[in-house]
Amino acid sequence: MSRYATVDPTTGMVVAEFDTMSDAEAERSVENAHAAFQTWRRTDVAERAAIVQRIADGHREHADELAALMTLEMGKPVAQARGEVALAASIYEYYATKGPELLADEKLDIAGAGTAVVRTDPIGALLGIMPWNYPYYQVARFVAPNLLLGNTILLKHASNCPQQALRIADIIAAAGSPDGVYHNVFASNDQVARMIAHPLVQGVSLTGSERAGKAVGSVAGANLKKSVLELGGSDAFIVLADADLDIAARDAAAGRFANAGQACTSSKRLVVEDAVWDDFLEAFLAYAEQWTIGNPTDEATRLGPMSSLAARADLVAQVEDAVAKGATVHLGGVVPEGPGAFYPATVLSGVDATMRAYHEELFGPVAVVHRASSADDAVRIANDSPYGLGGAVFSSDEARAAHVADRLDVGMVGINTTIKSAPDLPFGGVKNSGIGRELGRFGLDEFANKKLVRTM
Ligand code: NDP
Repeated sequence: MSRYATVDPTTGMVVAEFDTMSDAEAERSVENAHAAFQTWRRTDVAERAAIVQRIADGHREHADELAALMTLEMGKPVAQARGEVALAASIYEYYATKGPELLADEKLDIAGAGTAVVRTDPIGALLGIMPWNYPYYQVARFVAPNLLLGNTILLKHASNCPQQALRIADIIAAAGSPDGVYHNVFASNDQVARMIAHPLVQGVSLTGSERAGKAVGSVAGANLKKSVLELGGSDAFIVLADADLDIAARDAAAGRFANAGQACTSSKRLVVEDAVWDDFLEAFLAYAEQWTIGNPTDEATRLGPMSSLAARADLVAQVEDAVAKGATVHLGGVVPEGPGAFYPATVLSGVDATMRAYHEELFGPVAVVHRASSADDAVRIANDSPYGLGGAVFSSDEARAAHVADRLDVGMVGINTTIKSAPDLPFGGVKNSGIGRELGRFGLDEFANKKLVRTM
């Protein structure tokens, strides 16, 4: 099988295959992206914004087709897939409408004579390396701010999303983006490394695993290239004793099982204060049972297959390790008969630090419920992770929740809500969850030259 292929996760069958580009094509695409940058950076920002708006429109116009391709290539239930396409469109629209004012020069209040102004200028051709779990949204987070800013883009999508990668490139071309401004690249890892090292490429943004982040970040570092890395997470969802347990249980189930649990900000670890352990667990299991497996093309399905048989095998190994070492399975935990990468909504407790499931990211529909003796103990458990992406605290006492939220070592925290991405809210983490921020005004600054202009 070719490296870039559509493999239907409901059947495991190969549907379409695509060739990896040649080294000569990889070199040409870098040269074209650099050449296009010379014109694109000088194109009026209103014109760039108009193109970014038409990319939003293109996503909306083709929403059903884009969603169907996502369902085919990575198994997202179609209703959730349409929601993602709408979110991606709203990100392009946000930068098209708000972006120009965010790029305005900033006058500094300085001591001494004269004036000082900071410009936000583009830096050049960039490489984006994107994952399969949110194939349109992740691309939008990187592409929308950078096209608006005036950077040009080489985009290497996940090898199991080739048809979506090609449709994104079509939509961007149909929106009127000039030749060379956006290139889809079906590149090998070696070609990716050479692109990062290439003198005509100025930076790289990757969303994906810690392993990929280390590989890409080290090439970027060795070549003094700017990198933004959005990596894994193992978000804690803390339920304090005074929380509304029904709402907390409902949101925890949605936070854990949406997208078959394959989100960096999934609520992977539920940390529950001892006093409400039994009541919360009962309520949570009742909601978790509603996440039944179904065909992802069916409108009513909430839990589709995982993205691939290999991804499911990794998850099964993590669950088997926990169970062998004494974890309790409250729900699920058994691979269903039949084809495809399906895995049921699963709930584990009694997971301790000897088990892989304690420290590793569980990238599938498996919730781990931890018992905390107090709010302080909940903070300790939540922070006992190599990751620091998001988190949530549920409590009817906002001040108490805020005090807990303040002590979480994460990049994003919700009080009585899970973290839901929005175009105007910054997204990113600390610790092994990555480096940098995307979205909002912060996403425009990552690959910008904040250029000082001093006048006397
Ligand atoms: P990867 O991190 O391998 O894939 C993400 C992207 O990085 C893909 O485009 C992939 O390309 C690319 N990539 C991987 N390794 C390299 C490399 N050495 N050089 C250049 N590009 C590279 O994720 P997987 O699909 O393998 O998933 C594995 C785990 O990663 C998941 O179980 C989950 O824990 C985590 N993950 C987290 C995500 C998040 O949103 N935080 C998203 C996806 C995964 P290719 O597909 O061609 O290999």
